[in-house]
Amino acid sequence: MTRVVVAGGGWAGLAAAAELTRRGIPVLVLEAAPQLGGRARSVEIWGQHLDNGQHLMIGAYRGMLGLLRTLGVDEGAVFQRLPLELRMESPHQGGYHLATPRLPAPLHLLWGLIRASGMSLSERWQALRLASGLTGRSAPAHDLPLAELLNHYGQNPQIIRKLWEPLCLAMLNTPVESASSRVFRTVIKDTFARQRSDSDLLIPRTDLDAVLPGPARGYIERHGGEIRVGQRVTALQVGSERIAGVVLANGDTIAAQHVVVATPDTIGRRLLESHGPLKPIADALARLRHAPICTVYLRYPPHVRLARPMCGLLDTTAQWVFDRRVTGNPGIMAVVISSHGPHMQLDNAELAGHVARELATLNPDWPEPEAVRVIREKRATLLCQAGIDSRRPGNATPLRGCWLAGDYTATGYPSVLEGAIRSGLACARLVAAELS
Ligand SMILES: Cc1cc2nc3c(=O)[nH]c(=O)nc-3n(C[C@H](O)[C@H](O)[C@H](O)COP(=O)(O)OP(=O)(O)OC[C@H]3O[C@@H](n4cnc5c(N)ncnc54)[C@H](O)[C@@H]3O)c2cc1C
Repeated sequence: MTRVVVAGGGWAGLAAAAELTRRGIPVLVLEAAPQLGGRARSVEIWGQHLDNGQHLMIGAYRGMLGLLRTLGVDEGAVFQRLPLELRMESPHQGGYHLATPRLPAPLHLLWGLIRASGMSLSERWQALRLASGLTGRSAPAHDLPLAELLNHYGQNPQIIRKLWEPLCLAMLNTPVESASSRVFRTVIKDTFARQRSDSDLLIPRTDLDAVLPGPARGYIERHGGEIRVGQRVTALQVGSERIAGVVLANGDTIAAQHVVVATPDTIGRRLLESHGPLKPIADALARLRHAPICTVYLRYPPHVRLARPMCGLLDTTAQWVFDRRVTGNPGIMAVVISSHGPHMQLDNAELAGHVARELATLNPDWPEPEAVRVIREKRATLLCQAGIDSRRPGNATPLRGCWLAGDYTATGYPSVLEGAIRSGLACARLVAAELS
């Protein structure tokens, strides 16, 4: 009998499966889609390897970097590592530029803020005040909406618009009005308070499949595990007070001592809700909300480029532009638009046209794009609102042998790759402890 079945081959499920494999425990990964990767997967567009959404990682993603080492992936081959630099452009009031020097953390952030160009003295002072508050020891007992914390630290609307709103949307995919200040603080502390390299930006040099899903598959299969794609789990089988296996869409059953449910929370809820002991978790999952992310790809002639691999935009629908030259797609720009907003009312052609005009305003020498493609992930991440931690389940469940892994579990992180991987690794450690 297969001892551990992992239902879901996203980054959380693959992290769990790879860690179990590393510990010599046989795993079977069942993935519903025809490919691995889940919400961070490769797609083919215009005959090129692109992704379902542009992803950015940071040096503080220790879980991810450790896992890549286990899988034998050379960091330099899959990421371009750059010291944190925010180059924000606006068609109206000018943007700003913040670069972090080679100083120990958090001095690099403080010095970067002091030297930032395009910010007034008062804006820099306010940002410093909040940055030192967030990276310091004292934390509010309650998880306030971030807007309230910003107010508490005397941040004016200008610095919120320029700095905190874009950072909050990029990190939590949630607007400051409702975002969890606790989760925001955790990410800021992890990024800025420990080592300077934690705030480095890691921009993929390859499509996402080659960063983790491909190497994870190779590692798991080389070490005796099995991965089956196109295999949807439709139900959990429960024996006498413990998990007994899973049922597949084609009616087959697979027996297992342990099942790691590594699907998105919405699917997890459906798998859990019909089993009495799991019903409270399913009910908590039903209260989670989600937020979209749109990626607009624009294909220009190969000579078109940004001055830097990425830049941020203020006062526009487009929020971040990535030059996919870094990823081996010269001339292709990936524009990221996080969370809800009026852009969700536009159809794909309108949205792409709108974004193309915004880029043309900022880059008047660029020609018209030759082609455009919009990818909308409607449930890209959890809406990371204040108080969210109380609704997120842990990895263990009251049903013996049934475990949860995914970016929605209680990692303390927003729904990001690092949260998914930490969740998968933590889950694998619990399963291994039980098996031993
Ligand atoms: C457009 C976009 C941009 C993003 N940008 C960033 C970023 O820049 N940085 C960052 O860190 N994070 C980013 N994220 C978030 C990140 O992609 C997710 O947090 C992460 O991929 C979640 O991984 P997961 O394994 O928890 O879930 P998922 O990726 O959802 O994996 C779940 C898997 O389960 C499978 N499945 C579903 N139902 C079943 C079933 N019944 N049986 C078997 N398998 C099933 C799914 O097909 C999927 O493969 C972004 C997400 C999106 C969508």
